[in-house]
Amino acid sequence: MRYDFSVLMEEAKRESEKSTCKHRVACLLVDEKSNIISKGHNYHSERSKRLGKRTIHAEYDSIRGVRKPSHNLVAFIYRYGKSEYGNPIHSCACCEELLRAYGITKIISMNEYKLGD
Ligand SMILES: [Zn+2]
Repeated sequence: MRYDFSVLMEEAKRESEKSTCKHRVACLLVDEKSNIISKGHNYHSERSKRLGKRTIHAEYDSIRGVRKPSHNLVAFIYRYGKSEYGNPIHSCACCEELLRAYGITKIISMNEYKLGD
């Protein structure tokens, strides 16, 4: 499977710039034809003042745009950084589990994609 990596990269960068967090992260949910079905970024939730700010992860933000199950999708994770393909990033255990619940088992770190491809 070949993804249109430069297009995905552009979108991921643009999406990560919406983040309100120190480490700006974007997640793209991409189908087998390299179409971006949903995308998301991390941000601080203001909802619970008592418990303090919660961070909504990019994976969670993006998954809201798709239905269960979504076996055909692959998750691309990007972390904003000065280098061309961003900084190293991996999904946390919670997000991995969330994606898996939707049938999304392939999570690709964009920083590593070029190296491994
Ligand atoms: Zn997470």
